[in-house]
Amino acid sequence: MKFKDTKLNDKLKKAICEMGYEDLTRIQEETFEPIFRRKDVIAMAKTGSGKTAAYILPLLQNINYTNKSTQVLVVAPTRELVIQIVEQIRKFCKYSQSINCLPIYGGQEIRLQAILLRKGVKIVVGTPGRINDLLDKKVLKLAKLRTIVLDEADEMFSMGFEKEVDEILNSINISSQKLLFSATITDRVYKIASKYLNDPITINCSDDTSILVNEVVQIAIDVKEKMKNECSLRILKKENAKNSMIFCNTKKKTETVYKYLIDNNVKAEMLNSDIRQEEREKILKRLKNGELDTIVVTDVLARGIDVEDLDLVINYDIPFENEYYVHRIGRTARKGKNGVAYTLFTGKQIDRIKEIEKYTNKKFIFENVPSISKDINVDFPISNRGYYIITLNIGKQDGIKNKDIVGAIRATTGMKTEDIGKIEVNDNITKVEIPKNYIGDVVAKFENGIIKGRSVSIIKE
Ligand code: ADP
Ligand code: MG
Repeated sequence: MKFKDTKLNDKLKKAICEMGYEDLTRIQEETFEPIFRRKDVIAMAKTGSGKTAAYILPLLQNINYTNKSTQVLVVAPTRELVIQIVEQIRKFCKYSQSINCLPIYGGQEIRLQAILLRKGVKIVVGTPGRINDLLDKKVLKLAKLRTIVLDEADEMFSMGFEKEVDEILNSINISSQKLLFSATITDRVYKIASKYLNDPITINCSDDTSILVNEVVQIAIDVKEKMKNECSLRILKKENAKNSMIFCNTKKKTETVYKYLIDNNVKAEMLNSDIRQEEREKILKRLKNGELDTIVVTDVLARGIDVEDLDLVINYDIPFENEYYVHRIGRTARKGKNGVAYTLFTGKQIDRIKEIEKYTNKKFIFENVPSISKDINVDFPISNRGYYIITLNIGKQDGIKNKDIVGAIRATTGMKTEDIGKIEVNDNITKVEIPKNYIGDVVAKFENGIIKGRSVSIIKE
């Protein structure tokens, strides 16, 4: 179904269209109608499936424009998520000017929030702790609340917000509509649902992984662990991406990758649990503003942050969970753009690659480590197989064997053994066939390289 065929009003449709959305995702198709009808809903769909729009659009349609009191309360587990939801709501409301929306979370000045709330805020989005604070202080008033949404309910409970959520639900009007959105529905989510929801409709789209993955070009590169830094650097250069993210499985990795990129003049930052909240927000802002080329992140940190418009994702490590994979690469498929996602794997991880293909129902394109696009003046003889022939100034007398050359080329350029052509080790010199697309790399690495302790250079015969 297309947005233009929904019963959303024209102002919403105009904003949605500008955001580049055309078709509803599955969860959106399923939730719109019951939410319009003011039913209680439990909805489950994977991360990246468009849950925010799934609840907020029908609610925006139902908002009473003249009533200034808080009509919708969205509760979300983290401050990043709160900010992201508010940003999205504001975009949807671009042409619906009388709808206002306020984020509330710990760390903000309560006094200021009180002033803003007193003026009348139709939609409040907040973290459980801060919502409770403001309820206790009677700053946030929910007497006229029409709908409460618990977003990422599972996450909220696993973060220990059960008591706060309970208190919030106890303090709202019994007749309010209650919507519960989650990537997974756990026992605790069910418990809350059965306690507070009134004859809810359960919508389960958890088997739907297609949505945002379909648009992404997925490339897999078989690369040695040691070459991953270099490989990532080359991907960044090759794709010339304006903003990208590099995903690692551990904090430690983010540090080494970050350092490597910085040393190679990439405008990079990293996001991991050592980076303080305020700093994280600044970094995200800089990425959004185009001041950074890339950020290196872990899954934990990436969860809940919404950076739109990524044109490139690099999976430096294969994620532990297939779902993380979808979440990572989903970031490049926004606004109907075609993103590119590279996944680096070491040979024996091919099974994981196969698993992901099965999970996403889409095949990878397998590529080699990108070669350095270096403008070199290529002037080498060409073999009858169409390879360039380079001549190195070392040979048998230096103790060089065929495998030393293969090893050196593989280690420095990421080429595979089968890509390297014929190698002919003579007494004093060695001739190597190099495919044309790798010549730049090989020349760059061998101009002043070292093999077996011998300094090597390319010579002209
Ligand atoms: P979830 O909460 O399920 O993880 P989000 O609501 O954060 O997913 O949406 C993920 C991304 O998909 C967001 O960037 C959002 O703008 C985009 N999106 C949502 N719905 C659509 C749609 N129908 N078409 C295109 N993009 C969409
Ligand atoms: Mg969400």
